[in-house]
This record gives sequence, C-alpha cells and structure tokens, in this order.
Amino acid sequence: MRINVILFVLVVLAWIQSCSRDKVVDRIYQTKNVVVVVIDGPRYTETWGQTGRPNVPYLNGILAPVGCTHAYFYNLGGTWTTSGHTALTTGIYQNINNTGGELPQNPGIFQHYLKKHPDENAFAWLITSKDKLEVLANCKDSKWKNKYLASTDCGVGGNGTGYRHDSITFRRVMYALEERKAKVLFVNFREPDFSGHKGDWTGYIRGIQQTDSMVHEIWKYIENDPFYKGKTSMFVTNDHGRHSNGVSNGFISHGCDCEGCRRIHLWSFGPDFKSGVVLNEAADLLDVHATIGELLQLHTLKSSGRVLTELFKK
Ligand SMILES: [Zn+2]
Ligand SMILES: [Zn+2]
Repeated sequence: MRINVILFVLVVLAWIQSCSRDKVVDRIYQTKNVVVVVIDGPRYTETWGQTGRPNVPYLNGILAPVGCTHAYFYNLGGTWTTSGHTALTTGIYQNINNTGGELPQNPGIFQHYLKKHPDENAFAWLITSKDKLEVLANCKDSKWKNKYLASTDCGVGGNGTGYRHDSITFRRVMYALEERKAKVLFVNFREPDFSGHKGDWTGYIRGIQQTDSMVHEIWKYIENDPFYKGKTSMFVTNDHGRHSNGVSNGFISHGCDCEGCRRIHLWSFGPDFKSGVVLNEAADLLDVHATIGELLQLHTLKSSGRVLTELFKK
C-alpha cells in the first residue's frame, strides 16, 4: 500500500516536471525596442572593408567602438533588393519578384510582433525610400495575410508610386522616433544603390557617406532619448553588395553570387550586446531575423537563421 502511494507521488511529480518543461519561459532582456536600418547596396570594399574606412567615418569612429561589428557578414540568398530585405524580415531566403509585385511567402517580424502585441499597430513602422518594399508588411500565408499589419510609409506614396529621396525618409524616421515612439522600426535608404545603378561613382560614394551620417543621427537620438535609451537595440546592415570589379559591369549592378554581391556588413548595438568588438564568426541576413526574434521573445517566429549569441553579454 505504502509503495503504491510513493509510486503515485513520483508519477505526479514527473508529470508536473514534464509540463513545466513544455512551457515557454520568457527570457528577460533589457531590449524593448528594435531599430533596423538597411543601407541599400554598398560593397564591403567601399565600407568596412576599405583601408582607413574613409566613406564610413561615423560607423568606424563612433558606432563600431560602442557596438559589435561582424567582419564576415553575407547575403546568402538572392542578391536583389526585395529578396535581401525579405530575408531580414521573414528569416527565409525566398526568390521573390523584385518590383513590388509579390508578397513574401512568410510573415515578417512586424506580423509576429503585432500578433503578440495586438494593440501596438501604431508602434510598428516600416519606413522605406523604395516604394516596392511596402510588401514587407504583409505576406501570402493565408493564416497571416492582411492581419497584424504595421504602419507603412514607403516611397513617394506607397507601393507603385516610385522611390523618394533618402532625406525625406530620414525626416520620417526621426518623426517616427520623436513623435510616434516606434517600438519596432525597419528602415530602408535607397542609396548608395540608386546612384550605383546610374553608373555614378561619385554619387555612389556620396550615398555611402550620407547614409553613414544619417545612421549616426538616428543612433544619437536613441542614445539620448529617455524612451529609447538603454532599452533599444539597433542593427545597421545592407540588402546586398554589388559586383566585384571584373564581374559583369562592376559596381553598377548586382544580383549574382560573386564576393562583391554577397559580402556586406552588420553593426549591432544595444543594452544586451557587448560593445567595441569585431566578431569573426560568419553570419548572414537570416541571423539578424533570428536575433530580433530572441530579443523581442517572438515565440511564433520561425527562422532559418541562428541567434547571434556572440553579440550577447555573458
Ligand atoms: Zn538593394
Ligand atoms: Zn555579382
């Protein structure tokens, strides 16, 4: 009889333990807000990879010393604008129409975030110079399509209306930070890609320098505003590079798997991350997605990437 009671207690204890193992326990991070800035289409050889880094003085001199730089960072999918951005927002490499005529197959970070925080549409923002990137707010998956949609501010006046100047996008981004207090903010600047496609080397270099300066302004605001300070992680990356010299027409185009198209840059900053380190672990666009999912504890999110654990403080 006594043995039966002991056995019963043991079975109940084992059951309770297995239940508690199944429960997803939220990790506590200091990060409450995430900002992603995508600088469209510079080559590594004109940004972090250039001796002295003359085109990215803010990244090199001010941002890198307080954040983490991945020295071996890649787009391993289609090296086009919409596919590069889709990899960042959905965590999956997908061959997707590059003109804004197709939604991503899978839900993006915004949709997962708004499923978890249904009252926060006004705090999830997609702000892009390229109108076609408005597709990132939605997806084809019937369980998610037209649900949990972020606020969008893309191109001249939404998908199909054309690109706008980065200075306009920059003002909209600052407005979203200052007045809207965006909690999930995803930004695209069209330069230096826009000038690169025109074959304008001077404009291409200026585009790298100007976006470097805009990123610095965004970072400065985050660092000094009481709402964001100490609670915000920021990622600065690219959707793709451009052809290496000697491949096709060089810096003018992109879209293949040459080193110039694949190799890009990632700078990560935030209260949960180390500061002033250059990381030599190889990483790619999908890993940014997985890392944001971890920081914001988006348990519905499925990513083919890995959480960049090397960023995190011990
Ligand atoms: Zn692009
Ligand atoms: Zn290429």
